[in-house]
Amino acid sequence: MSDTIFSKIINKEIPAEILYEDDLALAFKDINPQAPIHFLVIPKKPIATINDIQVEDKALVGHLYWVAATIAKEQGFAEDGYRAVMNCNEDGGQTVYHIHLHVLAGKALGWPPYQATLKTG
Ligand code: 5GP
Repeated sequence: MSDTIFSKIINKEIPAEILYEDDLALAFKDINPQAPIHFLVIPKKPIATINDIQVEDKALVGHLYWVAATIAKEQGFAEDGYRAVMNCNEDGGQTVYHIHLHVLAGKALGWPPYQATLKTG
């Protein structure tokens, strides 16, 4: 898999507002927040999309959710609630091909989280 901007953030080649780091994962604020609180939780292992998650990655993906919940509790928005989602490929709205959990909070989030556009062809 080719490197993405997130590899550069992991390697500290470009700056990010880091909220959490351990051997497996990194959490940092999204550069273009879509809610009052919006950060990303990524594995240090580069996995391009949800479709590329292997059986040996199952615990790692679970760990990303644990990191999200840990930060939510630390920052005090766990009880109010939040959304933790991954986009997959073009229709899912994925733009960076290194899996990442979006964690959005700080307001009541609408559902469904998209403006529907019909696919043609
Ligand atoms: P996707 O569209 O792939 O689901 O989400 C990619 C997210 O990464 C977007 O919300 C975008 O704002 C964020 N992002 C892209 N480049 C950077 C960057 O260089 N730094 C940070 N902190 N976030 C980024």
